[in-house]
Amino acid sequence: MYDLLELTRGRLAQIAPQALALLPVGSVEQHGPHLPVGADSIIVEAIARRAAAEASSEVPIVLCPVVSFGSSDHHLYWCAASLSNETLIEVLSDIVSSLHASGFREILILNSHGGNAEAARIVTRKTPLKCPVVVGTCNYWDIAKVALERETDLFKIGVKVPGHAGYFETSLMLALKPNLVDLDLLPPARKDIPAEGATGVYLQRPGNSVGMDGHSGDAHLADAKRGGVYLDIITSEVAKALVAFHAAARGQAPV
Ligand SMILES: [Zn+2]
Repeated sequence: MYDLLELTRGRLAQIAPQALALLPVGSVEQHGPHLPVGADSIIVEAIARRAAAEASSEVPIVLCPVVSFGSSDHHLYWCAASLSNETLIEVLSDIVSSLHASGFREILILNSHGGNAEAARIVTRKTPLKCPVVVGTCNYWDIAKVALERETDLFKIGVKVPGHAGYFETSLMLALKPNLVDLDLLPPARKDIPAEGATGVYLQRPGNSVGMDGHSGDAHLADAKRGGVYLDIITSEVAKALVAFHAAARGQAPV
């Protein structure tokens, strides 16, 4: 695994044509009273770095720095450093296009914040129409869903994954950076408001995240050891996805 920031231009030119560029995208937004605003960025940096290391025996991977600013306008009631969806599309388009211009032929956007998902998909759809590059995007929780369901009781006990600053994200943060979790400020448990209607219609309510007081679920149940287990499962599933994406991008497997 290579760290993009540590490569010289000569090494980059050698490595890029064969390598998968992994671009993690997070957010800077309030995460309840007890988690830091950079939680999504911290989580995706850890997952990307660990998964890239795990997959690197099979795939040459260049890890890009996290795009920490995401689309978080729905958290501005409290605080966020947010890019609009339109700006995020431009930012990700420019990064992906310039990575391609620098020699990369395959780029995977690894997302850790729901508000970025649409922008990342639009960039993934549009960029290969303009230049010969294979682009992919995924949310880490989607990649890990089946394994988390198989290997943990997360879904049986009704935890929303990832939710927002609830049991799941708080457990991940306790495993990664316990010093950044303020256990004295854990918010009261909340019943999650579903974002989607029962009919399959995608639905957003005005002030949705205000209504849920900026967090979901019950962070009191969060646990560092369990968070570590979730991280291991997510890492291993994302690593498998990197290998599969690389094979698909090189035409060795169906896209
Ligand atoms: Zn989050």
